[in-house]
Amino acid sequence: MIDQREPVVVAADWVLPIDAEPIPNGFLVVDRGTIQFVGNQLPTEFRSAKQFKLTGYAILPGLVNSHCHLEFSDLVEPLPASDSFPDWIRRLLVYRNSKNEDPEQTGFARRAAITSGIRESYEAGVRWVVDMTTQPWDPLWIDTAVSEIFGTLSPAFAPKNPIAIQPCIELLDISKNRLDLSLAFASKQANAPESTRIGRMGYAPHASYTASLKVTQLCVELSRTERRLVTMHLAESLDEMEWLDERKGRFLELLGPILSDEFLDALGQNSEHGQLLTKAWRATIAHGNYLSQVDLSELAIHSENMAIVHCPRTHRHFGHRHFAHPNTASLRYPLGERMELGVRHFLGTDSRASNPDLNLWSEAKRVRAEHPSIPSLEILKMITTDAAEFLGIADRYGAIRIEGPSALTAIKLPEHFPHPSSSVDTNRIYDAVLSPETESSPLELAIAHGPQVCMS
Ligand SMILES: [Zn+2]
Repeated sequence: MIDQREPVVVAADWVLPIDAEPIPNGFLVVDRGTIQFVGNQLPTEFRSAKQFKLTGYAILPGLVNSHCHLEFSDLVEPLPASDSFPDWIRRLLVYRNSKNEDPEQTGFARRAAITSGIRESYEAGVRWVVDMTTQPWDPLWIDTAVSEIFGTLSPAFAPKNPIAIQPCIELLDISKNRLDLSLAFASKQANAPESTRIGRMGYAPHASYTASLKVTQLCVELSRTERRLVTMHLAESLDEMEWLDERKGRFLELLGPILSDEFLDALGQNSEHGQLLTKAWRATIAHGNYLSQVDLSELAIHSENMAIVHCPRTHRHFGHRHFAHPNTASLRYPLGERMELGVRHFLGTDSRASNPDLNLWSEAKRVRAEHPSIPSLEILKMITTDAAEFLGIADRYGAIRIEGPSALTAIKLPEHFPHPSSSVDTNRIYDAVLSPETESSPLELAIAHGPQVCMS
């Protein structure tokens, strides 16, 4: 039995702080969920502490999922995308509305889905989730779900907040009533007492076909004065681009019967929303698949406060096509080319409506497999240190910090992983850690369930 007042030592083959050199045969000292030491020479004061050896593991900063919709986490499999994005939206609305039939049950089902999504994310080693949040929603659901996870863990080494959720309240103005309701909801959440399990609330004007320029402008102003994240779906599908440009195509069938002339007049192009977002404290664009070269140049200029969140498996689910030349379509998101331009990227899972699970590590491995020219360290930064720094949470999540919580991720390494030694080329380490056979989990679950040896 571990005395929970005593620090514990975790030894692993590799500790990869990401913002510093890899540490072979590294040590981590954790005291009731707070990091006390990280390095390869264990200080004398900790030598008599209880020690766990995680053989065959690397320890990374906690993973940051920069785009998710937890409300769809009870879907067993993604909704078919066929060849039409509006058809998928229609299926999504049917699914959501099926829960609204009984108002008593709506909150119950929603809460169960969110709770399940939080647990699933946690078990994959994700420690921070940026969530697109719609009503009904209650911060108490998050608090309770995180408390329940914490209750199953050993307090000797588990962080008190094993995972945190950052809600970004979705704002749409396809009708006045809808806007008033979502603004009132956002204002209530913005004024709610802060919880350490809930990240600082952000604003999410939904998309350029559901939120007018007026809404985006309002969110950007609030973002600046309140220092909050703004996030928006922009240029996601070719159907959307066709409708915005010419008001025709399959989006017309979906939106034609819903949108009033007044709202249509207030809609803006993706580039106009993008321009407004440059003024936000921090802004992320979800997907951005079909942003123009001019839009991308703006993103590169504003990379201090703007980034794209790419969701690799969702991108593949929809079969988005990119045209380097008029007749050659590629299913590969032009990540390398955009990074070359200076456009900042993070990774997200999107939701279970377009992805089989919420495992962010699988997204990173997918990027590794699809984009051989991108250095593995850059991919790892997108889901840890760089995302955490951008979101303003690097003191607590997405990094390994002394006095910070031990909300870290353990990666189970394959047999062929380089033997821990300071002479191994660091790029080889990062490449190998993203190889297809690796698996991620929260550090405390790796200690509790892994093949570790308790040394003392
Ligand atoms: Zn999304």
